[in-house]
Amino acid sequence: MTNTTRWTNWSGFVEGSPQRILTPGNLDGIVEAVKTAPGPLRVVGAGHSFTPLARTDGTMMSLERFEGLVSHDAAATVARVRAGTRLGSLMRLLQEIGQGLPNMGDIDRQAIGGALGTATHGSGEALGAYHTQLEATQFVDGRGEVRELRLDKDRDMIHATGVALGSFGVLTEVALKNIPTYRLHRRKWVLPIKEMLAEFEPTMGAHRSAEFYYVPFSGHAQFIASDLSDKPVSPRPPEEDEEGLATLRKLRTVLRWAPWLRGLIIRTVMAKLPAEDYVQDWLNVYASDRRTRFNEMEFHLPFEEGPRVLAEIIELTERRFPEVYFPMEVRSVAADEFWLSPFYRRPTCSIAIHHDAANDPLPFMRAAEPIFRKYGGRPHWGKMHSLKAMDFQALYPRWKDAMDVRRDIDPQGRFISPYMADLFGLK
Ligand SMILES: Cc1cc2nc3c(=O)[nH]c(=O)nc-3n(C[C@H](O)[C@H](O)[C@H](O)COP(=O)(O)OP(=O)(O)OC[C@H]3O[C@@H](n4cnc5c(N)ncnc54)[C@H](O)[C@@H]3O)c2cc1C
Repeated sequence: MTNTTRWTNWSGFVEGSPQRILTPGNLDGIVEAVKTAPGPLRVVGAGHSFTPLARTDGTMMSLERFEGLVSHDAAATVARVRAGTRLGSLMRLLQEIGQGLPNMGDIDRQAIGGALGTATHGSGEALGAYHTQLEATQFVDGRGEVRELRLDKDRDMIHATGVALGSFGVLTEVALKNIPTYRLHRRKWVLPIKEMLAEFEPTMGAHRSAEFYYVPFSGHAQFIASDLSDKPVSPRPPEEDEEGLATLRKLRTVLRWAPWLRGLIIRTVMAKLPAEDYVQDWLNVYASDRRTRFNEMEFHLPFEEGPRVLAEIIELTERRFPEVYFPMEVRSVAADEFWLSPFYRRPTCSIAIHHDAANDPLPFMRAAEPIFRKYGGRPHWGKMHSLKAMDFQALYPRWKDAMDVRRDIDPQGRFISPYMADLFGLK
């Protein structure tokens, strides 16, 4: 146990002063903490959410000492791991047993419990978010009892609790349905955003995984495609994202009031970017290093609305927010059946906007949010938004059912911080 006065999330925007941070190394320690530690009890993964999900004045619990492989079934390509396992370690331990995650997001720093908690996702029209891999879960409920769920016999409960925002118990172990290890052919190229938006559906659908970044003021996007390959591996080129961001930041500062010139220079730089084209094992492809800190908002929209929403967000940014320089990220995610999943029964286009952590993100985010909402956007649970229970009731057909299940699991509200009470509409 450590005593602490201050905790911050990855971007530094969310701060808290938990009475204590516990790092139990076994199931008994987790049960004991749920039964006796001062509440509210909030589990923290890697603290990479931009919303105050993990913040508490009571007890913060990290499962950083509760990690690793528990067991695996080679024939079924299922692996059972402890919930504190970071995605980076998870990739490596899966590779060793011949299994691969079907898809990943942009980084590998999150704990698997944290990634599941907010419906973390990558991109690919036929690829679901991490929680769609759940075959079984073990968690400690609000009374301190250890509960086990299996997809084959507790399908509804898995769907009710699979995306849980840290509020349906402490997730201790998860069994994930993986696929045999594989290789990806990764390519990146630049194209005019008008072309990209005009051909949005066929272009996004033409690859196993497709996404693109729109660079503000440039009129151009960088498209990233990944497809299965059985070719020999070739070197992954060194990452240039951080250098690219430094250039965009400099241009923002110097040419803030000369958008035309700013755009021209960015386009010239983008045109000279070395083409990226390589084949690598899955675990060497998805994740990048993100050193420049930012805050982020991401909304999950009906897939077909993607181009229209992006066009409005671009127009807003370039008309009113010359200080913004971070590229916008556009991805697709398959529909699923999880009650609190933003992808619930809806093929999705996800649009993310970012703002340098050194600047106040709120004016930009507040101006963008109504555009996302106008088209039925559901916010990423771990990224900035201002929605409340009433809004979620309208966006999530099984919201009330999920809240009933939550109350059964945690009747005393052990996991309910003021932020969660506000979000869930609890008094
Ligand atoms: C640089 C960066 C890149 C990102 N890229 C992507 C991306 O590509 N795709 C995407 O979808 N998101 C992305 N995110 C968002 C991020 O994946 C999510 O916010 C994720 O939830 C963070 O995981 P974490 O381990 O840090 O969890 P935390 O932020 O610490 O916690 C998230 C939630 O999970 C709960 N939780 C954690 N562990 C447990 C547990 N064992 N039991 C119960 N509840 C638990 C917490 O209580 C909290 O509610 C990114 C964030 C950053 C900072």
